Order: sequence, then C-alpha cells, then structure tokens
Amino acid sequence: MILIIVADNDRQPVVTPVSGTRRHNLYETRTTTHTMTPLQSIKGFKDILPGESELWQSIEEQAKTVFAAFGFREIRLPMLEKTELFARSIGEATDIVEKEMYTFQDRGGDLLTMRPEATAGIVRAYLQHKLYAQEPVHKFFTIGPMFRRERPQKGRYRQFSQINAEIFGVASPYADAQLILVLVHLMNGLGVTDAKPHINSLGCPACRPAFRTALQDFLADAGDQLCSDCLRRRETNPLRVLDCKVPGCKEATQNAPALSDYLCAECRTHFATVRQALDDRGVAYTIDDRLVRGLDYYIRTTFEIQTGALGAQNAIAGGGRYDGLARALGGPDIPATGFAIGLDRLAEIVGSIRRPDLPRPTLYIAALGEDARPMAFQCLSQLNLSGITAEMAYEDKSLKSQMKRANKLGAAHVLIIGEQEMQQGKATLRDMATKEQVTIPTDDLAAHLIERFHNTGG
Ligand code: AMP
Repeated sequence: MILIIVADNDRQPVVTPVSGTRRHNLYETRTTTHTMTPLQSIKGFKDILPGESELWQSIEEQAKTVFAAFGFREIRLPMLEKTELFARSIGEATDIVEKEMYTFQDRGGDLLTMRPEATAGIVRAYLQHKLYAQEPVHKFFTIGPMFRRERPQKGRYRQFSQINAEIFGVASPYADAQLILVLVHLMNGLGVTDAKPHINSLGCPACRPAFRTALQDFLADAGDQLCSDCLRRRETNPLRVLDCKVPGCKEATQNAPALSDYLCAECRTHFATVRQALDDRGVAYTIDDRLVRGLDYYIRTTFEIQTGALGAQNAIAGGGRYDGLARALGGPDIPATGFAIGLDRLAEIVGSIRRPDLPRPTLYIAALGEDARPMAFQCLSQLNLSGITAEMAYEDKSLKSQMKRANKLGAAHVLIIGEQEMQQGKATLRDMATKEQVTIPTDDLAAHLIERFHNTGG
C-alpha cells in the first residue's frame, strides 16, 4: 500500500491510502478549510525542551571533560546503517534484531536500519577507515540518539540517547576496569552516589559452549514455567533466560548452573584482574552471575551500572568486552571493550538531584517609543556580538510591561532608552537588585556597557 500525503491550505496534512503505481507522487495539494488539532510526536519519541536541554548539556559537558582526562576522542557516526551490520553484530536471535529495529527499504531498494546502538557503527567505521593501521590503541566516545521499537514506558523510549565509550586494541582486563572507573567517576561527579557497578564474566568461545549446553539441558526440564519469550530463547539464546524479569522464569532458573563454574583458566584470570584493579582503587561492585546483557557480541567482562532511583528500569549504563566483533564484521582480530550510558535515564536522576542554572540576561533594553528602537537594537546587537546575554522589547510596549518582562526574564539590569533622554545624550541604567538608577551618556553607549559588564563580571 502507498500513502498519499495531501496538504490543505492550512498546511495540515491528510494521509490518504491509495494503491498501486504512483510511487513517486507522494505529495499533492488540495484546498479544504477544516480545522485539525496540531500534530503530536510519535509514541515513544519525546522532545527535550529548553529548561531540560540545559541539564542534558551540563551532563554531556561533564562526560566530555572526563573523557578528555581518560584519553577518549569523539567519533560522530551516521544514524542510518545497512541492516546487515546490526544483524551480524548484535545477533539475529536478540530482542533488538528480532523485534525492535526500525528497518525499511529505501527508494533504491537498500535495506537500512536506524541505529539501535552505537557499537556496531563504531566498529564499522574503525574497520572502514583502517584506524587500526594508524595506532595500536583507540579510545572513542560518541553521544547521540538510538532507536528501538520497544514498549514505551517511564525510562524506556523508542528514541533515546546514549553516551558511548569504546577502547579498541587492548585485550588487557585493565581496559575493562578503566571503563568501569570512568563510569563510577562520572556518576560521582554528577552526584549520582548510589550508582553501583554490577559485574560478571560471560566466558569466551572456548568455555561458554559447555555452559550453554548445560543451561539448555537444565532449561529443557523447566518446561511450562517459562514465559513464551523464554521458551523461544531456550533454543536460540538460552543465556537470556537468566536475566528474564518474569517471576516464573526467575523461579524456574533459581538452581540453574552458574557461569562462574564453567569459566576457563584465562577467563578466570581476566575476571580476577578486573576485580583486583577495582578493589585497588576502592571501587565497590557487586558480582552478578546473571548479568548476561542483551547483545550477542559480549565475551568475558560484562557490567551494568544500576541505581535504586529508577524503579523497574534500573540500569543507567551497560557494557562489556567484545573481542570477536571486529573479526566477525570482516576485519582483523582486534580486542575491544566499551559501554553505553542511557542519557535519558541519567538526566532524569541528575534532574532530581540538581537543576542547572537557567540562562538569564545581563541586560534588558527597554525602548520608549519607536524613535528609541534603532538605538536599542544597536546596543543589543553590540552586546550580543561581544558575548553578553541581552534582550530587548522588539515591539512597542509600555515601560511598565517592559519592566515586567525584564523581571520575568531575571535580567540583572535594565537600560531605559527614552526619546527625550536620547536627544539629551543620556539613558538610564537600573540595577534590578538594588533598584539603583544611574544616568549614563548615550555616546558610545554599547562600548560603555560592555566595559561596565566586563569589569563587574556581569
Ligand atoms: P544497551 O545498549 O541495551 O546495553 O543499553 C545501555 C543503556 O541504554 C541502558 O542501561 C539504558 O540506560 C539505556 N537504554 C537502553 N534502551 C533504552 C530505551 N529504550 N529507553 C531509554 N534508555 C534505554
């Protein structure tokens, strides 16, 4: 079925399904005069409005400062990738690939997907640009939106943002420990003091198959206690049954074999070193044998940062080691490890702890009468161009209403430019806190104000 989108003269689109051949004629106009309610955003997609965006900016800035100190550099990637990239990396039998991806065929017939996570794209870029040939170790971070068609609820959206960090070219457990340290340091800096790392080892291709078989044998007897998803996972991705939140599944897996009993010597040593490195730095953590995470590519260390502040969606960040991924995507065998922080959830927690200062103008310019407005605009522009936040009344308003507006905006000073005073070469500067007023010369008014505000730090 093809949809024809018709816009009426109020620019309200009307969507009419039609069949057949008019594939390239999707937009037509039609003249109708009925009113419609304004369009709403898509379910699970939300707007970050001014007031909240300042909080997001402050979190992002803090993350960038921490990343710089730890040697991570920014990588910016497309939001759209070939579907095959995610199918091959995240895994065909994962919830994301099975049922959550926004996938469509573009006009050229390519199968494309809105990225559901960032790691696959980072590995793709790393291989495509042969970055491994330039440097043995790369540390990347990226911040941006991801898309998963999950059931929307508090803390779970269909478009959400992540802060990602990845280390390429280091097989050592110290890279895993460093990532956990970055997370804990960032959370502490943001005031999220109850954020706790949960860590586990998922083993490697040498030891995990034996655990998988043992788990599958165990689950074969669990039968009708498992939810329908887990009955399917039992065959395709049995480890996922271990972190299913459905009470019946939790109960059925209470005595399931433990991954820690199946780890090979190398995986054991790797995990012990991660723990020791965290102990040495005094980082508290919980070992969580059931932390298997939702993506196929993890091996050895996996971790999650959980907090009590979020209710059901208690994970603010998750990550782990994915040594085999570069090779699985056609590149050389390069070890890698990384994490993703859920920015929406983090902002919710940080917002409940502190609100960032909202911007307020240093100066509000009140122009009395049309003749004063050109001078007001001159002044405003010069202040703005020199980096001083200033506002003015663009329209003709009474002095009373302009003062009210200045108050509402929280302006520190108001500059009153009246026609008469201007003719006398004067204007009035009012300090909104002390109510003190001074008359200042209009000669070189903007330069005078700029100097004054720079001197007072205003
Ligand atoms: P993942 O990429 O699944 O390992 O998730 C990493 C982090 O991203 C999680 O710990 C969440 O904080 C966040 N996250 C994942 N899915 C969503 C979602 N649908 N809505 C909001 N945050 C999410």
